[in-house]
Amino acid sequence: MPKIPVEISARHIHLSQKDLDALFGKGFKLKKIKDLSQPGEFASSQTVELIGPKSSYKKVRVIGPVRKNTQVEITATDCRVLGINAPVRLSGNVKGSAQATIKGPKARIKLKQGVIIAQRHLHLSAEEAKKLKVRNNQKVSVRIKGERSITFHEVVVRAGRQYKKACHLDTDEGNSAGMKTCEYGELVK
Ligand SMILES: [Zn+2]
Repeated sequence: MPKIPVEISARHIHLSQKDLDALFGKGFKLKKIKDLSQPGEFASSQTVELIGPKSSYKKVRVIGPVRKNTQVEITATDCRVLGINAPVRLSGNVKGSAQATIKGPKARIKLKQGVIIAQRHLHLSAEEAKKLKVRNNQKVSVRIKGERSITFHEVVVRAGRQYKKACHLDTDEGNSAGMKTCEYGELVK
C-alpha cells in the first residue's frame, strides 16, 4: 500500500486582494511565518475574526498568497458553533456557498459567499499521480491506522504541476481518526 502523508488543516481563510485591502488597509502585504506543504502556500501572521449568527472565532489564520476569491474553510463542528450552514466543496468552488462576516483591524466585511467545509482531497504532482496510477479528480480512499482506525472514502485527487503529495483532512476528520498532525495514511484504490 502506498504511504501518503496526511495533514490536518485547521480552520483558515484565503483572501482576495480586495478583501485584504478592506480588512487590513490598502496595499497590505501578508507576512509569511511558515511555508505550507503545497508549493507557494504559506501561513501568515495575520488573523481575522470569523463571525456567524450564533458566535465567532477570534483568531482565524490567513493563508497566503492572496487568491482570486476569498474562501473560508471550517469544519462541520465550527458550522454548528457559528450557526453557519456551509456546504462540502472542493477548494475554489465557492459559488453559492455560505455567508459570514469577517472582521479585520480596519473593517468588518460581509461575505456573500465563500464559506465551505473543504472536501477531503489528495494533492499529487503529475509524476506522483502517474506513479500511483491515479488521475486528477479521481476519488480514492485513504486508510488511517491506529486505535481509532478509519478509512476515508471520497478523497478527491488533485494532481498537477503545482502540487506535492499530501492528503488534506480537516480537524473533525483528523480527530475522528485519532490523528495528531502529519501522520501517514495508506492509499486504497
Ligand atoms: Zn489541500
